[in-house]
Amino acid sequence: MGNKFRKIGVLTSGGDAPGMNAAVRAVTRTALARGVEVMGIYGGYRGLIHDDMIELKARNVSNIIWRGGTFLYSDRCLEFKTEEGMQKAIENCKKHGIDGIVAIGGDGTFRGATDLSVRGIPTIGIPATIDNDITATENTIGFDTAMNTVLDMCDRLRDTCVSHARCNVVEVMGRGAGDIALNTAIALGAVAVVIPEMPFDADATVEKIRHLREDGKRSFLVIVSEGVENFAEGFAKRIQDETGVETKFARLAHVVRGGSPTLGDRMLATKMGVHAVDQLLAGKSNLVLCQRDSKITTVEIVYSQCLDRMYKGTLKEGMLDQFSEEKIAQMKAEIEQKKKDIADLYTLAEETAR
Ligand code: ADP
Repeated sequence: MGNKFRKIGVLTSGGDAPGMNAAVRAVTRTALARGVEVMGIYGGYRGLIHDDMIELKARNVSNIIWRGGTFLYSDRCLEFKTEEGMQKAIENCKKHGIDGIVAIGGDGTFRGATDLSVRGIPTIGIPATIDNDITATENTIGFDTAMNTVLDMCDRLRDTCVSHARCNVVEVMGRGAGDIALNTAIALGAVAVVIPEMPFDADATVEKIRHLREDGKRSFLVIVSEGVENFAEGFAKRIQDETGVETKFARLAHVVRGGSPTLGDRMLATKMGVHAVDQLLAGKSNLVLCQRDSKITTVEIVYSQCLDRMYKGTLKEGMLDQFSEEKIAQMKAEIEQKKKDIADLYTLAEETAR
């Protein structure tokens, strides 16, 4: 390939996600196959600042493709946001001869990747978060596993709900994104789903449960995204008080972040890991891996970040100035499509929950 890369670093940062190990493995094996050495950096950017890293050989990443969590550990490192911390990280890269980095994590991790890139350490991001809240990619690593864990947990709850003719209100993770809640609600046949992206008619839902109970339905499941704050527990009480159906509340919380990654997440992690290394060795930097139209590709981190901000309505003055009219139109079209996809899924959930 005739490139300048002799050694790269790989790290996992921010909230962990099943499939991070599979991504580290793919990055390591691909780099080694291209004749490039690999340093595994412990604890995200903290390991870069505090010089906590080991050389990874092919055998160091054996037998991890199926493991949850991240064997490189993850951390939230505030020091990395300071210029002093950043300089320490760059010094350590120089000391170890690290010519580029693959940073596996969420949007915070990509901001760190940009900071490294603009200071001369080419860095590529791989999106790994159960929340699926990176707008530029159809899927993030960990999302599929998290949804399957929710299915497993709620199927168990359903067993006992049917036995006792109960309702269960289940809160699931997702930060500001309702993706986990919406998709699992459909796959579980939940009677209602509450997500931050769509208005929710609580009165109508209570009425619906009352009516369905009269009609003979024994068990009910309501899925609530954690992005709708301080709602789920109170709503469970309300259902019980107003319908007479015994209703339990459950917060699945971090259990959904663990476990062995699904086939889908192992595949995504492997494809993205390979592609990330090839992009880095081809001289690219400041990019994030994406799956778009089912294909693995990249977009600039700044594009991904502005797209997220546009989606959340948090764009700041002048942020779009760097983009052409054509790019801005493309961003707007992507946002419209995403909103439409969510609205369509929500309709599907409602229509099948009777
Ligand atoms: P995630 O990557 O899952 O979104 P965080 O938001 O916690 O998780 O970000 C992970 C890490 O990335 C932070 O602990 C910090 O080290 C680094 N980071 C986050 N934001 C920035 C930033 N603005 N500049 C530099 N580094 C950042």
